[in-house]
Amino acid sequence: MSISRDLVDDWIRAVASAMALNKDHLTQLDSPIGDGDHGANMDRGFQAVVSKLPAVVAADIGSIFKTVGMTLVSTVGGAAGPLYGTFFLQLATATAGKTELHLSDWVAALQAGVGGVIMRGKAGLGDKTMVDALIPALDALKAAAADGASLPIALRQSAEAAEQGMLGTIPLVARKGRASYLGERSAGHQDPGATSSHLLLKAAAETWASAA
Ligand code: ADP
Ligand code: MG
Repeated sequence: MSISRDLVDDWIRAVASAMALNKDHLTQLDSPIGDGDHGANMDRGFQAVVSKLPAVVAADIGSIFKTVGMTLVSTVGGAAGPLYGTFFLQLATATAGKTELHLSDWVAALQAGVGGVIMRGKAGLGDKTMVDALIPALDALKAAAADGASLPIALRQSAEAAEQGMLGTIPLVARKGRASYLGERSAGHQDPGATSSHLLLKAAAETWASAA
């Protein structure tokens, strides 16, 4: 079982749809503990990404991810733009020259992507950021792969771990990003970036469920 380059393209389009559909939700989450722009940021960024996809239609998977990362860096402002930009640029490096991804390739790619976000943003588990969804997702993916799970099952477990991580940000006090300015008052709100990270990984699980 592997993920073809067409399925990578489908994933990016599915992420763009999910961001558009959840634009208001992400904005509502970013309002009490941020500046209410996360939905608009993510939607603008992925709409720009979709407009660039036809240019890389014949390219390898690494080139697709590179285009995604560079487009996000240049079109999404705030904290999330450079962080998601780095995420996709790291996916690009990990998948350079590949035209299909096996589960082990996706484990390596996600590991690189999450590592890039941590290196860039210096957030750890429990800081109430996207990292609280991304690290559990990576850990669950690795555990599933080590157990010999199939690609669709591993992706589903990874997305479910991201969802739990996202929900786990609700009681946390933010220690990174704009929400940290609120101190204790940031507790009781779900982190918008953890929510968009969950959307990303949920879209991967759904789009790649039928990878053959
Ligand atoms: P901004 O905070 O600049 O308005 P966004 O609203 O687009 O940017 O994104 C906010 C999200 O970015 C937060 O919910 C959080 O998940 C994430 N974030 C902020 N700072 C960091 C960081 N240092 N490391 C990881 N994620 C971060
Ligand atoms: Mg914001």
